[in-house]
Amino acid sequence: MKNAPCIIFIDEPDSVGHGREVKNGATSEHEQTLNQLLSAMDGFDSNKGVVVLAATNRPEVLDPALLRPGRFDRQIVVDTPDVRGREKILTVHAKDKPIGSDVDLSKIAKITPGFTGADLANLMNESALLTARRGKKIITMREVSESMERVIAGPERKGRVLNERTKHTIAYHESGHALVGHLLDHADPVHKISIISRGRALGYTLSIPDEDKVLNSLSEMKDELAVFMGGRVAEEIFCDDVTTGASNDLERASKMARAIVTQYGMSPLGTQVFGQPNHEVFLGRDYGNTQDYSEETARRIDEEVAKIMKEAHDRAHKILADHADQMDLMASVLLERETVEGEACEALLDNKWDEYLAREDEIIAAKEAEEAAARAKDAELLAAQGDGEGAQTAAASSPDAGET
Ligand code: ZN
Repeated sequence: MKNAPCIIFIDEPDSVGHGREVKNGATSEHEQTLNQLLSAMDGFDSNKGVVVLAATNRPEVLDPALLRPGRFDRQIVVDTPDVRGREKILTVHAKDKPIGSDVDLSKIAKITPGFTGADLANLMNESALLTARRGKKIITMREVSESMERVIAGPERKGRVLNERTKHTIAYHESGHALVGHLLDHADPVHKISIISRGRALGYTLSIPDEDKVLNSLSEMKDELAVFMGGRVAEEIFCDDVTTGASNDLERASKMARAIVTQYGMSPLGTQVFGQPNHEVFLGRDYGNTQDYSEETARRIDEEVAKIMKEAHDRAHKILADHADQMDLMASVLLERETVEGEACEALLDNKWDEYLAREDEIIAAKEAEEAAARAKDAELLAAQGDGEGAQTAAASSPDAGET
């Protein structure tokens, strides 16, 4: 080791380091690589000043031999960043980009709980691309918030042609999610409702938790289940027929309801954990689902799950049926505008739409003035920097500037 002291970094060691399997008694190439890695690591003396680091998303599939003392014997879990971490990560990725003075990184950090470092990097890149596409030189808050949705739900698909009937269904479906989410105490606040397709979603309701959530309470989960059901229930009440549009909602709801019973011990079945859910994350190996309970228990689990789902459905149903007029208004506004956010969204959810309409011109003018002021300030700053660095536009970091 002539380079000692040094740090050796291995990225994604799971590609060679996943568990060895016996395949017809033959030693695969992958196994040879792993053996080589193991013996090489044994060669490092603890006082020779060689530190081997590796990063993986799947520590559970690594061969146990890799994790023995003297090899990768210490594990540091890097979780998704909290609000302070996110702000610091955003600062790093904003460094080489022309960021406008209205862009508040701490504010962005607050509205991006659950984002990973890669998501945040992606967010800043998307903002730069969007800015370049619009022929602008400076990234403003508007581009950042639009990019946030691209990161969460995929790019807008305005080209998709939907007939009136489908749009009508989507408008009620999203209004259903939004209104149930707004009226239940423990659900995440709704920030935006849109019936423009994004990625695979036909429409979406953007709700963002107020803070980083570490623990979920039963009442929060029950409210969330009702929000999931809100879309389908709206179709039941306000459309002639139900559609497949709710399949993803129902899948997520069923999963959560089952977890409440089998993993979180929050049902009348008690606090026992049923099944071995952790094994599902062993991507490299197939354990199947180990059923460590009787058929009778399985039946009771199914019953409890069905009960929780029914309760969520009925709660959503009561809310939406009680607010039928408001639902009609929300759907008609969505059909006309396609997207509502900010104060418009709040007014719609608080059922104060007429009051909002009366003030809308004022609100929009104020917002535009604010943006114009920020832009003027940026232009001044840019001019002050002269032609040197200031001339670098957002386009410099964008390989493709075509609208997608
Ligand atoms: Zn839905």
